[in-house]
Amino acid sequence: MRTKSTKKHTINVVTLGCSKNVYDSEVLMGQLRANNKEVVHEQEGEVVVINTCGFIDNAKEESVNTILSYVQKKQEGLVEKVFVTGCLSERYKPDLIKEIPDVDQYFGTTELPSLLAALGADYKHELVGERLTTTPKNYAYLKIAEGCDRPCSFCAIPLMRGKHKSKTIEDLIIEATKLANDGVKELILIAQDLTYYGLDLYKKRALKDLLEELVKIEGIEWIRLHYAFPSGFPLEVLDFMRQEPKICNYIDIPLQHISDTVLKSMRRGTTEEKTNALIREFRQRVPGIAIRTTLIVGYPGETQEDFDLLKQWVKDTKFDRLGCFTYSHEENTHAFNLEDDVPEEVKMQRANEIMALQSDISWALNQEKIGKEYRVVIDRKEGEYYVARTEFDSPDVDNEVLIPAQQGYLRQGNFYKVLINEAEDFDLYAKVID
Ligand code: SF4
Repeated sequence: MRTKSTKKHTINVVTLGCSKNVYDSEVLMGQLRANNKEVVHEQEGEVVVINTCGFIDNAKEESVNTILSYVQKKQEGLVEKVFVTGCLSERYKPDLIKEIPDVDQYFGTTELPSLLAALGADYKHELVGERLTTTPKNYAYLKIAEGCDRPCSFCAIPLMRGKHKSKTIEDLIIEATKLANDGVKELILIAQDLTYYGLDLYKKRALKDLLEELVKIEGIEWIRLHYAFPSGFPLEVLDFMRQEPKICNYIDIPLQHISDTVLKSMRRGTTEEKTNALIREFRQRVPGIAIRTTLIVGYPGETQEDFDLLKQWVKDTKFDRLGCFTYSHEENTHAFNLEDDVPEEVKMQRANEIMALQSDISWALNQEKIGKEYRVVIDRKEGEYYVARTEFDSPDVDNEVLIPAQQGYLRQGNFYKVLINEAEDFDLYAKVID
């Protein structure tokens, strides 16, 4: 008689997509650990859970390829079970079930309890903020809300994540305090629309209220704001940022475009004039603030004139950090009713032009940092360098400060004062002075 294997299965969680997906994977792993399950992140495991992204074409393709590669491993007997969750699964479950039937089960973005049940675990409500973080120990994401109420025409996120839902300040304090007790020093606040925080729960924009509580947590040194939205921006947050040293003088605010025609069609609820006024507010209220933004080129109907306006604006505004996407024609979004009339090669060419511009801007801004002193945190050691960041740099997406290791041992997660002695377009070189 074949004896039932008593060997504990290792559950391997694989994360694709954005920091919000990283967060969700960490919550899943925290629940599994609380159920005494053996769980790892992107290592070997008999059971695999793929947390997918369904945002735009490239991301969807990567998710499908990842699913196929694990299904292949299953057919080869290298893994026993493959489960799929996250945005792609939320958005395309019926198609995926038909096209990739070898997956054991598909789950949406709000089906954590049933995913846990399929993994032989119980969903534990009491585990507020209990997570197995996958980021370096010194920083962690803090997702303050889920979903989005905005009508942006090109965006499929509300289809996958639902309506905006803020977490309570109390729960977020419990979560952040646990992270601080685990040695986290930098909290990166994320949501689909950070600046909408509280409108559903407290009937007012409550991001500043939340920040006033988070800065009280001992051990937290830096708090960083990601995914702000331009219209209705709570300006009081800027004044608090200026006066409160723990809040990084940094704001990530995807602005997408600057042409009024394109902004109107994108249903962004803002204009060229209002956008520029907001950027002026950022720079007046928080001198030296680093502004990160994201743009979309090749949106339906984007003319050469619209694009030239965008280019000139990027040149004039000199964003500290900038990313650029090519428009992706997403079914069931409002823009899907428009003709996707900008050819792919023109979209790519426009994105390359914007990023070439930004590389020059970033290089010039970085030259101005030579000879200046900054407080940095050490993220890791890589080859002959310690890799660090200033408060103006978010992990994975912004500049890094490289410190030659031969200068002496530096502790991961510790803060040091450095002097910048060399600069490239996206990296700075420095020596420790204190
Ligand atoms: S605010 Fe962001 S997540 Fe929300 S609809 Fe607009 S682009 Fe999408």
